[in-house]
Amino acid sequence: MSLNNELIKKFSNDITKDSKLSNLSWFSLGGPAEFLFKAKNKNQLIEFLKFNKIHKHKITILGAGSNTLIRDRGVRGVVIKLVSDFAKISLIDKDTIEVGAATLDRKISNFAKDNGIGGLEFLSCIPGSIGGGVIMNSGCYNNDISKVLKSLKVVDIHECKEKEIKREDIKFFYRGTNLTNQFIITSVKLKGKIQSKESIEKLQNDMIHKKKLSQPSQIKTCGSTFKNLSNSKKAWELIKETGCDKFKEGDAIISQKHCNFFVNNGKAKSADIEKLINKVKQTVNDKTGISLELELRIIGE
Ligand SMILES: Cc1cc2nc3c(=O)[nH]c(=O)nc-3n(C[C@H](O)[C@H](O)[C@H](O)COP(=O)(O)OP(=O)(O)OC[C@H]3O[C@@H](n4cnc5c(N)ncnc54)[C@H](O)[C@@H]3O)c2cc1C
Repeated sequence: MSLNNELIKKFSNDITKDSKLSNLSWFSLGGPAEFLFKAKNKNQLIEFLKFNKIHKHKITILGAGSNTLIRDRGVRGVVIKLVSDFAKISLIDKDTIEVGAATLDRKISNFAKDNGIGGLEFLSCIPGSIGGGVIMNSGCYNNDISKVLKSLKVVDIHECKEKEIKREDIKFFYRGTNLTNQFIITSVKLKGKIQSKESIEKLQNDMIHKKKLSQPSQIKTCGSTFKNLSNSKKAWELIKETGCDKFKEGDAIISQKHCNFFVNNGKAKSADIEKLINKVKQTVNDKTGISLELELRIIGE
């Protein structure tokens, strides 16, 4: 039996070959994964990683796919998506919750509200999972993950062991951290402040309302394409002022409501989105001398 067949046999219910990925990205784009492994719990994940030491397949982690463009020819190696046990939420102290890495940010925000924990309202505006949220240090309205994270648990893909990392041992930047991709985040502890449910709900609704006014919804997008740079205009302002907001490539277009949001308008290919990204980056650079930096993650070939 070939190693690959052995891999499929061993994890038969949870691993698939040539598996469609486009339904796992908010762009609804991208080719297949050579293997897609849906890990149900920590022990199974560790068992898989130990087995993969023989195969040495390249590993790529996908969260909710709300910040990831998957290229048209797909992803070689194994794409791991955390499911089941990784979406559990529990209250571990009156102001602290522990969540599996695959838990959606919106659910966490609602759970915190139901338990009278404030400070996590902003998570109701971010469509990803908390694992992706930590890696991206996601945030809005003067909040981000770094301000509410207490600690996290990761599985090291080389050591195949789980360990805890404290907040103070992680460096957070604007939309990023120093965590390397040798770590798969398995769970996260978040600490808020005890507050009344009414005040939490009001703030949450205000934020959701503000987002609806400023950002498009019901479209195939991964949110902001470029980071906002310090000491410079916002990325969307640079895109608009240089006239790039009118650019398109095939069915890849730019939202007129928020021109840092690039959109698959129906029949785009990932290559069209990437061409549009490069064209905008080049034009902004030519006209302003500013080099825009990607917030979006691009994976695959
Ligand atoms: C409409 C819309 C609005 C948005 N608004 C905002 C906003 O206001 N603020 C903001 O910051 N972002 C925003 N985003 C971007 C996106 O939602 C965030 O970056 C989000 O946190 C990404 O989470 P995800 O689970 O979808 O990550 P993915 O896109 O799946 O992955 C992002 C990165 O995290 C890694 N990753 C994911 N899970 C794990 C894990 N368990 N362990 C290790 N690595 C992991 C991936 O490998 C990848 O490198 C928006 C996106 C959309 C579509």
